[in-house]
Amino acid sequence: MKIIKILNNDHCSLSFEVFPPKVSTSFEQVKPAIEKIAKLRPSFMSVTYGAGGGTGRYTLDIAEDIRNRYGVPTMAHLTCVSSTKETVAEKIRELKAAGIQNVMALRGDLTPDMKLSDSDSWDYCHAIDLVRELRESGADFCIGCACYPEVHPESANQTEDIKYLKEKVDAGCDFITTQMFFDNNLLYNFLYKIREAGITVPVVPGIMPITRAVQLERALKLSGSFMPQRFKAIVDRFGHDDFAMTQAGIAYATDQIIDLYANGVRNVHLYTMNKPEVARAIQNNLSSIIGK
Ligand code: FAD
Repeated sequence: MKIIKILNNDHCSLSFEVFPPKVSTSFEQVKPAIEKIAKLRPSFMSVTYGAGGGTGRYTLDIAEDIRNRYGVPTMAHLTCVSSTKETVAEKIRELKAAGIQNVMALRGDLTPDMKLSDSDSWDYCHAIDLVRELRESGADFCIGCACYPEVHPESANQTEDIKYLKEKVDAGCDFITTQMFFDNNLLYNFLYKIREAGITVPVVPGIMPITRAVQLERALKLSGSFMPQRFKAIVDRFGHDDFAMTQAGIAYATDQIIDLYANGVRNVHLYTMNKPEVARAIQNNLSSIIGK
């Protein structure tokens, strides 16, 4: 099923993101966790793609497996910046052959040795190039793209970021999923600005439940997200105790999601970090709201 259909539904729903193993030898460790998450029957699941393509082959395998065995609609992520035209064309052929209907088209992060000033020699500079190729591929993909309520770290400012986001959407993107954020007001502000800029596609807020203090450090470094004082106090107080932090992190994420639903959001995407117990606890907290 195409994700855009799910997003156009009127009821509140929850989708999950999982990631493939970083090295092939850990596939068997990751698989059971992903299966447990799929058994929760979220509205859809997305499977990330290694920026350098390292574990890229598992993205497709996992997306196919979840869809075939659990009947959960899936979305395969695909990045382009570290790839050649040939490898991307091959990936698109594989997605088509596997009957994958939903693709998250991403640029991918630049590796430390990549400088934008050298980008003339790259096959891909931005996600928009991949969106165009997916559209021209002849497959009727439902295409998702990334967006950044707190501005992408490489952008000069939000106006420029939203200008490029609009171009990406106009190139054929059906919906956009946000980077994680911990203050919903930032999302509401962003929604207002993109609607003003003429971006009308559905926006799927991405929520990351923080269950370890060390995970928060990594997440903030990666995303540059603002940490509200209310959340900082929780981490300061419970960060040293894994059980307490898990409970508090689940409660904080649940609170954020309920506020999003109450303010008109329909589908929220949960960055599960391959933790079935966290996904289950949040889903249980929302059971009457999402009808699970
Ligand atoms: P782009 O849309 O290309 O934007 C990158 C930067 O370039 C922005 O500053 C933008 O404003 C600017 N820009 C865009 N178009 C132009 C243009 N035409 N001219 C000049 N500047 C432009 N990474 C992975 O490796 N694997 C994943 O599976 C993955 N999944 C993700 C899922 C979500 C929901 C999000 C939010 C991020 C994900 N990422 C993933 C991280 C993502 O790859 C990085 O954030 C990356 O740095 C940017 O990717 P993008 O697709 O947003 O790039």
